[in-house]
Amino acid sequence: MSITQTVKETLSAIPCNPYGEKVTLVAAVKYRTVEEIQEAIDAGIEAIGDNHVQEFKEKYDQIKGASRQFIGHLQTNKVKYLIGKTDLVQSLDRMELVEELDKRSIRAGIVTNVLVQVNIGCEESKGGFELSEALEKAREIQAREGLNVKGFMAMLPISDDETYLASLVDQMRALYDTYRRENDDVEILSMGMSGDWKLCVAHGSNMIRIGTALFGQRNYNK
Ligand SMILES: *Cc1c(COP(=O)(O)O)cnc(C)c1O
Repeated sequence: MSITQTVKETLSAIPCNPYGEKVTLVAAVKYRTVEEIQEAIDAGIEAIGDNHVQEFKEKYDQIKGASRQFIGHLQTNKVKYLIGKTDLVQSLDRMELVEELDKRSIRAGIVTNVLVQVNIGCEESKGGFELSEALEKAREIQAREGLNVKGFMAMLPISDDETYLASLVDQMRALYDTYRRENDDVEILSMGMSGDWKLCVAHGSNMIRIGTALFGQRNYNK
């Protein structure tokens, strides 16, 4: 199937979540060509998410018509390349990055929209704040002049236990609902990838980030 067909089918297959919220599909575009990405946008993708600053920079001027987001691990020395060019940084995963992104945003006279990343599966291989500290961190980050918290992002661990995975999304939704009560700008709970987005949406995610299921397997040699 072509990217155009897959994008259209995927978009029409995404239901509202149980809270009646529209679910935004972000295309995860790591290792994809400009042509592939542009085809997805022309087929209806409204937002694309990059993982690598180098790819983001190279493709920045060549891609038109979508919200530009950053979803991958971000080294502090590369923050400068994103300032003013991204609508949302989803992967705010540590205080060192908070400091740098805040400082550079202030210097550029802008406010950067961010999601607070939570390591919901307590995995050593993944970044993010612990669930128990996430609310406090979100408040601390929101107090920064250069940053605006729009919500939370998390990745589910690999597991066959759907009850366990659902409980993790439920915990993220509870965090999101709690913080939303004190911050009107909060509107995004970003959870769900190719293999688990249906479960995430069924439990209250309102933003999903999909790569493989839209574009096919990634070619890491490119
Ligand atoms: C690659 C990536 C995705 C998409 O993963 P797929 O399994 O290809 O859908 C989503 N979120 C992040 C942070 C990613 O790095």
